[in-house]
Amino acid sequence: MQSYDELLKRGMAQVPEKTKADDRFEVPKAHVMRAGLKTIVTNFNEIVTALRRKPDHLLKFLLKELATKYEWSGNQLIFQGKFPPELIDKKIDLYVKTYVVCPECKKPDSKIIREGIHSFLKCEACGAKHVISKV
Ligand SMILES: [Zn+2]
Repeated sequence: MQSYDELLKRGMAQVPEKTKADDRFEVPKAHVMRAGLKTIVTNFNEIVTALRRKPDHLLKFLLKELATKYEWSGNQLIFQGKFPPELIDKKIDLYVKTYVVCPECKKPDSKIIREGIHSFLKCEACGAKHVISKV
């Protein structure tokens, strides 16, 4: 017969490592290709899915930050102009800090809600609600 301690140890060993790692929220890095005077982001959909935001929202933010125009080519987002990948990652980080991660508990489990003329970042983890500016 196994002791309670042994059972406990076995039970804990069966918990996959990943459960712990889930606390850390990883934003996918932008996959960026250059094509002449254009900059192509090949994994925009993946990024936006990971952030659980509407593609239009992130896109509008990036267009404003980069002060550029865009076009779609299949799943690829093409910006007009030459932008280094680091810059695009930096802008996405800024977006995450402003529109995804809760300022209170630093978790990304949030959604954007509208109340009257204001938009709020509502955290589903701790319930905090913060006014955010429109994109
Ligand atoms: Zn929170």
